Amino acid sequence: MNVVDEVMELFATRGHDAYVGEPVSQLEHGLQAAYFAERERASDELVVAALLHDIGHLIHKLPEDAADHGIDTRHEHLGGAWLKRYCGPEVTEPIRLHVPAKRYLCATDAEYQAQLSPASIQSLALQGGPFKADEVADFELNPHFRAAVALRRWDDLAKIPNLEVPPLESYRPRLERVLRDA
Ligand code: FE
Repeated sequence: MNVVDEVMELFATRGHDAYVGEPVSQLEHGLQAAYFAERERASDELVVAALLHDIGHLIHKLPEDAADHGIDTRHEHLGGAWLKRYCGPEVTEPIRLHVPAKRYLCATDAEYQAQLSPASIQSLALQGGPFKADEVADFELNPHFRAAVALRRWDDLAKIPNLEVPPLESYRPRLERVLRDA
């Protein structure tokens, strides 16, 4: 199976899983994140990153309520590592960094932490809490940090019940352009 079909299959089989603690499924969440990326005229790579940013949740076999058991699924590493075989850092780095980007925003944007969902606040603690000053400075040195912060904001928005967005199939041409079989 080629990688694009594999991605479609992952969403078909696991995409209807709940995004625990949020009012949308995994598929709805990815589609909404991609939609918000597109609305801001993000590059094809970043739209694909938004669509696939939580693919780690579709690959791992941990229970959906892992955070309730104090488990950090480290889904950002799993997703980034899996995708590395098929695409470059413009896609994988914002995905790998979308969790640190939350820790970054909590440290640098006073309003940001206040609007996080309860589930997101719960996972923040497991992920290490807000960045310290030296971690903020380090993060800003990463060439993909702006893309990661943008992805994070789309991620946080992408939790709207019943929002009408383009279907997964509409992203196939872009997935085919951005993802290459190893
Ligand atoms: Fe997400």
